[in-house]
Amino acid sequence: MKMAEGVLREIRALTGNSFCQVGTAELSSPALADACSRGGIDFSSLRFAVAIAAPFPAEVINQLRQGPSRTYLYHYRVVNAQLDRLMLEISSCLEEAGGQAFPIPSSQRTGNRFQSIFPHRTAARAAGLGWIGRSSNLIVPGRGPRIRLGTVLTNLPLPPGQVRENGCGDCQACREACPPGAIKGPAFEPGDPQEKRFDPQACNDYKNRVRDHFGKRVCGICLAVCPQGREELTITGRDNQHPPVPPEQKAQEDRRPD
Ligand code: SF4
Ligand code: SF4
Repeated sequence: MKMAEGVLREIRALTGNSFCQVGTAELSSPALADACSRGGIDFSSLRFAVAIAAPFPAEVINQLRQGPSRTYLYHYRVVNAQLDRLMLEISSCLEEAGGQAFPIPSSQRTGNRFQSIFPHRTAARAAGLGWIGRSSNLIVPGRGPRIRLGTVLTNLPLPPGQVRENGCGDCQACREACPPGAIKGPAFEPGDPQEKRFDPQACNDYKNRVRDHFGKRVCGICLAVCPQGREELTITGRDNQHPPVPPEQKAQEDRRPD
């Protein structure tokens, strides 16, 4: 097997032009056991991971505060395809180095529609790419949750990442903005079940209600309101934290008597 440094150099060369952030991790036994229990796939020999965070156009996400957007759905598919392609290339690189590799699809559910076959955020957190926020999204310094994640599992020993401290602090913006109250409030704690922080049924039902009037299942308000990374990613910084008043509402307000 090639040395890990050589493989990492090749992986960084693959991802270098894509503005993706890449990290490596050794997964804990509970994380692996959880992954194996999900979709009936035996990941137990693949305890190392390459984690990727691909940037999502920030303004496309920020505008979800104003309502659902087909542009968001369009780019969601494009960024996922970009991640899937990168993960295939990384898998080939790991196999060339004599290892086994299992690229986790960017978005694939198990028979349980609320569960992915492997939670990308687990590997991304272990690799030090970010922390898991109150919203259960991975929060990347400088970008917040305006990213999509990918993971390649491997048996090739890779350096463990440095887990980041939770940076949510006292912020409750995602909990306060979530229309159906799916974000319950507790901060992420390793070992806690996700249900303690997040109600996937409420989130799912809300997206179904959006589909009834918009035609597509989409929300993403918790991504758009997260203050993490927003100042770095917008030109107007703090002035841009609240959505502009739509022109028709502004006209009504202007007509209102004092
Ligand atoms: S996507 Fe919407 S409904 Fe689901 S948790 Fe985020 S804000 Fe709440
Ligand atoms: S909105 Fe606030 S509480 Fe929610 S994930 Fe972002 S920083 Fe954490």
